[in-house]
Amino acid sequence: MGNVHNFCAGPCLLPQEVYEQSAKAILNFENTGMSILSISHRSKEFIAVLEEARQLAIELLQLESKGYEALFLQGGASMEFLRVPYNLMRNKSAYIDTGVWSGKAIDQAKLFGDVVCVGSSAQDNYSSIPIHINQDLNEFNYLHFTSNNTIYGTQFQTMPISNSKIPIVCDMSSDIYSRVFDYDKIDLIYAGAQKNIGPAGVSLILVKPEILGKTERKIPQMLNYKEHLDKDSLYHTANVFAIYTCLLNFRWLKNQGGVAVIEEKNKAKANLFYNTIDNLDFVEGMAKPEFRSKMNAVFKFKEQAMNTIFDTLCEQANIKNVKGHRAIGGYRASMYNALSLESVQKLTDVLNHMKTLV
Ligand SMILES: *Cc1c(COP(=O)(O)O)cnc(C)c1O
Repeated sequence: MGNVHNFCAGPCLLPQEVYEQSAKAILNFENTGMSILSISHRSKEFIAVLEEARQLAIELLQLESKGYEALFLQGGASMEFLRVPYNLMRNKSAYIDTGVWSGKAIDQAKLFGDVVCVGSSAQDNYSSIPIHINQDLNEFNYLHFTSNNTIYGTQFQTMPISNSKIPIVCDMSSDIYSRVFDYDKIDLIYAGAQKNIGPAGVSLILVKPEILGKTERKIPQMLNYKEHLDKDSLYHTANVFAIYTCLLNFRWLKNQGGVAVIEEKNKAKANLFYNTIDNLDFVEGMAKPEFRSKMNAVFKFKEQAMNTIFDTLCEQANIKNVKGHRAIGGYRASMYNALSLESVQKLTDVLNHMKTLV
């Protein structure tokens, strides 16, 4: 895979050693003589994998001894759009609307009660982040926000600012483990694994159990966080292979030095990319500079004709998956943890080269 530069927004690039180790486990999982695809999710070998993955999920965010439990469940982040209000909403919840994904979360929450949008960047075409919540939130059951907007390329640089004390829920699908953050101020964090944790097909939920059990609603077992916690994330067949691959990626991240170290690398990649486009007058970033995401850089060319030139140069340079999301067009370079600085360099070389062609 050496010379392909894959900027895919999700499922994302993973470290080469993670691919190699997971490929090996398909043939012979840790010298058991069996494939990881064919061992029981209740075998002692897999329980050890699950427990280490749950523990590293918490440890890498420095949430040990802060009262969190980790779950690996199926259904993707979209399932959590539903599971969150099912478990937490009594009558009223507050949501911050920063784009497509938070909009989908809001639509699901509306099935369970009143949803009040207490901050929105819709009026700026989602190119910004509403950071200050001026409204009193105490009457709401929880506040929900999306830390990184994968499609619009914006990111909460800090926690939303409000002086209310209600549980906070965050969809961190596309920037969890990418940076140091106030994770411990969030009571329920969820993420589809395929952006920065592992392969598609599993999601991670980090939850403080004390926020659960406060609704009278009957919750179907598969949708009930408490049920999954009581069963140690093994209520039903777990996604064995995906969880194992997440574990390999967590081990890789720990060996890199953890989240603080990867954050510096992610900053270097994002700075290189954004400095490049800011110095070229034929290309522009679509998010306001102070809200730019370090994970997903969204940009477009001022002249339509540049698109074809860029597409051709990317093709020649083996740069893949830089097309923007169909909801907004343009281009998007996703720079998750495993993407190298060299790949970003290659992309900026292409953009700089275009200067000589206009
Ligand atoms: C991709 C994404 C989702 C949807 O994830 P699925 O696992 O496909 O359901 C939700 N939220 C954010 C922020 C995302 O980037």
